[in-house]
Amino acid sequence: MPVALRPRCASTLCSVKHSLVDGFGRVHRDLRISVTDRCNFRCSYCMPAEGLEWVSRDDLLTFEEIERVARLLVERHGVESIRLTGGEPTVRANLPELVGMLSALPVDLALTTNGSTLRLLAERLADAGLRRVNVSLDSLRPGRFAELTLRDELPKVLGGIDAAIEVGFDPVKVNVVVMRGVNDDEIVDFARFGRERGVVVRFIEFMPLDADGAWSAGAVVSQEEIVATIGAVFPLGAVERTSAPATRFRYTDGGGEVGVVASVTRKFCDSCDRIRLTADGQFRNCLFAVEEVDLKALLRSGADDDDLSAVFEGTVVAKWAGHGIGHVDFIRPDRSMSQIGG
Ligand code: SAM
Ligand code: SF4
Repeated sequence: MPVALRPRCASTLCSVKHSLVDGFGRVHRDLRISVTDRCNFRCSYCMPAEGLEWVSRDDLLTFEEIERVARLLVERHGVESIRLTGGEPTVRANLPELVGMLSALPVDLALTTNGSTLRLLAERLADAGLRRVNVSLDSLRPGRFAELTLRDELPKVLGGIDAAIEVGFDPVKVNVVVMRGVNDDEIVDFARFGRERGVVVRFIEFMPLDADGAWSAGAVVSQEEIVATIGAVFPLGAVERTSAPATRFRYTDGGGEVGVVASVTRKFCDSCDRIRLTADGQFRNCLFAVEEVDLKALLRSGADDDDLSAVFEGTVVAKWAGHGIGHVDFIRPDRSMSQIGG
């Protein structure tokens, strides 16, 4: 991707923040970091049973490289929140060490995980400075869960959610990808689960980022349908808040809130403030971007902070208005969600 350079301060000690503003005036303050493309689950919509071609260990960014990128983005470019993801981030060895390094930065640090190892790791992650987690869970029925993930580990994930609550992560959110004919009959069960456990359930519209290209528009269950289904059993108030990516609704009886990430039917590109770093060190300005910048090559060839800043700024300036899911000219990225970092 060609990188446009902007004039910058000559001094590397300059304390003025160089916000990452794109051509549409969107300021980028949220960074997603994928720490691995590997995963211990095989969610049918994300990863084939045999796995994918994994990034070699040598090509994974080291914790020091990740921290350098994160520090620069926070200290010089005004990034305010970082989410660690993958693949399954908790299969990366010594994840709490990275959490410790990143939690030393003035940033809101969160983790997205399938929850299967949280019973073992939650306390160490909390001690290292993690405050918030999202756990992905697409079925509350053991048989269906096993079919969907190819792992018979629903009790482990539920135990992981409990562990997250016990160590005091706040909020604990549960992400549910809703797919027509797969788990759309569990929408109310998940709403009830959230209300009873005191976790925030966020339903996610199925996106065309699956590994096998099986996505179809017909498989998407829209925000409108999800909200109507929940509201028929647990009445919901008007939109409580729309802060990308989730639209949030509060139960009228005080039973908490529920969110919907409507990436397909109500895309929120207009307010997108996200940038991404993949496990193999590619810098992306959109989940659906078809181009990336090889930051790892720069990091490993002696680039100084100004060189990296120029890449950050140039990549963000080049960001498009938004993805075109549903349009004839939509091009799927070459990589699936687990390879980019969901
Ligand atoms: N392994 C971790 C997990 O499952 O939470 C983190 C990575 S996973 C790729 C991040 C999120 O992306 C999960 O909530 C997952 O359900 C979601 N996801 C993966 N593929 C998706 C797709 N095609 N459409 C919508 N969400 C998807
Ligand atoms: Fe693994 Fe997460 Fe993809 Fe499931 S959604 S296969 S847990 S990376």
